Amino acid sequence: MRREPRIVVIGAGVSGIASAITLQRKGFRNVTILEKGADVGGVWHWNRYPGLTCDVPSQLYQFGFAPNPKWSAVFAPGPEIQRYLADVVDRYHLRPLIRLNSEVVDARFAGSEWRVRTGDGAEYAADFVIAATGVLHHPAQPDIPGLDQFEGDIVHTARWDDSVRTAGRRIAVIGTGSTGVQVVSALQPEAERLTHFVRSPQWVIWAPMWLPQPAAVGAVLDRLPDVNKALYRAGMIGAKLFTDIVTRPSWRRRAVQEYARLSLRAQVRDPELRARLTPDYEPLCKRQVLSGSYYRALHARNTELVSEGIEAVTPTGVRTSDGREHAVDLIVFATGFQAHNYMRPMNLIGRDGLSIDEAWAKGPRAYRMTALPGFPNLFTVLGPNSPTGSIPLHHAAEITARYIAAWIARWQTGEFDTVEVTAAATERFEAEVTAALGPTVWNTGCNSWYFTEGGAIDLLPFDRARMESMLAAPDDDDFTLRTSAR
Ligand code: NAP
Repeated sequence: MRREPRIVVIGAGVSGIASAITLQRKGFRNVTILEKGADVGGVWHWNRYPGLTCDVPSQLYQFGFAPNPKWSAVFAPGPEIQRYLADVVDRYHLRPLIRLNSEVVDARFAGSEWRVRTGDGAEYAADFVIAATGVLHHPAQPDIPGLDQFEGDIVHTARWDDSVRTAGRRIAVIGTGSTGVQVVSALQPEAERLTHFVRSPQWVIWAPMWLPQPAAVGAVLDRLPDVNKALYRAGMIGAKLFTDIVTRPSWRRRAVQEYARLSLRAQVRDPELRARLTPDYEPLCKRQVLSGSYYRALHARNTELVSEGIEAVTPTGVRTSDGREHAVDLIVFATGFQAHNYMRPMNLIGRDGLSIDEAWAKGPRAYRMTALPGFPNLFTVLGPNSPTGSIPLHHAAEITARYIAAWIARWQTGEFDTVEVTAAATERFEAEVTAALGPTVWNTGCNSWYFTEGGAIDLLPFDRARMESMLAAPDDDDFTLRTSAR
């Protein structure tokens, strides 16, 4: 007898969309997607700061099953990616499955099923829960003394407020990751004055982020879908080279690192400014920043780079450790995310009352990025150790979703009622990851959001082939399958 599993997917971003479409294609009919936001798209819904552009080429930043022939640019702007994701949702008829404005506040395993509750009090019973809650979701904003006394406007890039005026104002941008560099480049031309507070400089590799995709190319790819698919596959081969560069030391890594140093030398001729912009760690150690406009923006007459630490915010500006007060009307926090929260602060309770905070007391961990001991019939997509810095994310999400669907298909035939990864298999996987992280460039002596509070690097040090093989099929020896007495 075949049973119809009730599946709840939490999140309608890239990983939630990939999961829902995969489940749909495998024939599962009872799928509900709970999305906290007012629209689909995940990070591309929440982030709408000026200058938002994806620094991964569009050809690689899309679903393999839904390649878009008509990207406007080689590096697509954020709103276009958001439209693409909404379009995929419509084309695959996901809308009726999605409950927007539905934040999951509580999910608990009740012996044989999950009970999921949203902030508005709605409750869902599920045989499987898929947490597709994203990595870069919870903004991190430092608690600087005096911030509450500031008389101007304050905004975090990840929660941009369109009503905040930027033109003609004195703007402080704090933070110099991928976001800070993009927002500085975008705000500088119209600001009265822009002060960039850079606690630790980052390597910024020069790249032509504005490069358009000619309309004729889009027309050809639209008419010849096979060519478009071949282009996607070619992009995946190119991405393999990048994975190799970040995971294994080689002359290829050194060449890219030399290019990063050259990007700085060639664009910043003033030795004093260059010294202040030179990081004290190897290029590629942090998530690499790409820009063709940041250094130009820094050289503009209305821009100042401030390297001194921020001591306090005053009612009218920002005071640094040298005692200087920088008068500003608007503070933009480009200070990143609490990247290791995953589904938290949701109250997630697994078997025998185990909470996710207890399970992850030493930092987030999961077997092959997706299964958690103590949490039967629950899987994560783009969960702990996902390849955020090395393998195309949409592909990782698709592969993980297929793996989860394979488990659910076995539940459907009545082979088991609950499936739970063993603690031993999870520990073994963790040990393999830790050993493989040794020679990665992320482990060459920098701090970054890749590090958990416990000091582990929350990334996948394997290449795409290894990721695909580890998620190719369920490995029964690593799981406990239980059947309830019926
Ligand atoms: P981030 O890389 O974590 O950078 C945060 C910045 O804020 C760092 O420069 C950090 O300095 C600074 N900062 C934090 N607290 C501070 C404080 N109290 N005082 C002064 N500076 C402080 O965050 P992000 O730039 O938002 O990027 C996060 C990730 O999002 C990226 O790495 C990337 O994966 C993704 N992203 C992607 C794109 C894209 O185009 N695809 C665009 C934007 C973001 P320290 O280094 O000293 O800590």
